[in-house]
Amino acid sequence: MAMSIMQERERAMMQGWKKCLERIFMKLMHPDRHESPAKAKTGETIVLQPAYTKRLKPDPAEVWQEPRPKQSKPVPEETSIVWCGLTDTGRVRTHNEDYFSCIDMRQGSLFLVADGMGGHDAGEVASRIAAESAAREVRAYAGTGDPKTVLELAVLQANADVLKEANSKGSNMGTTLNLVLVAGDKAYIANVGDSRSYWIENGTIKRITEDHSLVEKLVSLGKMTREEARKHPKSNVLYRTIGSEGPLTVDLFQVLLRKGGSLLLCTDGLWGEVTDEAMHEIFKTEKDVKKACARLIRTANENGGKDNITAIVVKVV
Ligand code: CA
Repeated sequence: MAMSIMQERERAMMQGWKKCLERIFMKLMHPDRHESPAKAKTGETIVLQPAYTKRLKPDPAEVWQEPRPKQSKPVPEETSIVWCGLTDTGRVRTHNEDYFSCIDMRQGSLFLVADGMGGHDAGEVASRIAAESAAREVRAYAGTGDPKTVLELAVLQANADVLKEANSKGSNMGTTLNLVLVAGDKAYIANVGDSRSYWIENGTIKRITEDHSLVEKLVSLGKMTREEARKHPKSNVLYRTIGSEGPLTVDLFQVLLRKGGSLLLCTDGLWGEVTDEAMHEIFKTEKDVKKACARLIRTANENGGKDNITAIVVKVV
């Protein structure tokens, strides 16, 4: 009996990998396909309705999240967190498919960024659905069990909800999803895709998450340098996203928060334009979270702004 279950799991994993490789192959053969209108199963072109236009060309003034030190959750040594999130369409794209949230909850504080894809309005729908679905799950279950398990289940629910929407629209929409739950003196992180979390402390910047991109695989195999990967024209080809069929693996991490340190969550519109070293330099010279966040966005735009740019800075003070 045990053998048959194992065999069944292996078969499911193999099928998952097979589908994943097929998707990667299709993306390599048709790199611009995600920019195309969604295709119905009949071959008919569907133009998705812009159901959510609120974030199409966000006014930066409207998306500031004011630092709220007095309402933030305390961490040991009488520390607290202040944060700021900002998103910008960039200088090339006509609309913003990124989505972010900063949510203060009784059981902690939740931060998330999502970078939608799928062409037309599908990308922004996918990122919004994933973000709202995950946030709803974390709100409902935070404090009831292991935080990493809560985050993992939240990401899986987000995947199911985006997939459901994609199937109902005949769309190939998808999104990245990077969740950070700050509870006590720890940050719990869940990630799918190539949005990133960093921890900046004591003169160092450390990337916590791993990109689920083909170029990252090539870097890990020693076939490409990080800088080559960052500028590669196919750096946006992902092998793991929210909105995928089959088993989804969620990467989970934990960081011990210390006074003076900062978390950074961002989409590839930031890290694709600004090196880790340049981001670090901004953190070293800019102590105010709001100004640091604005400088990150501004620098990405100055370097080209080829994609939507989103950043959340969470500072332990
Ligand atoms: Ca992007």
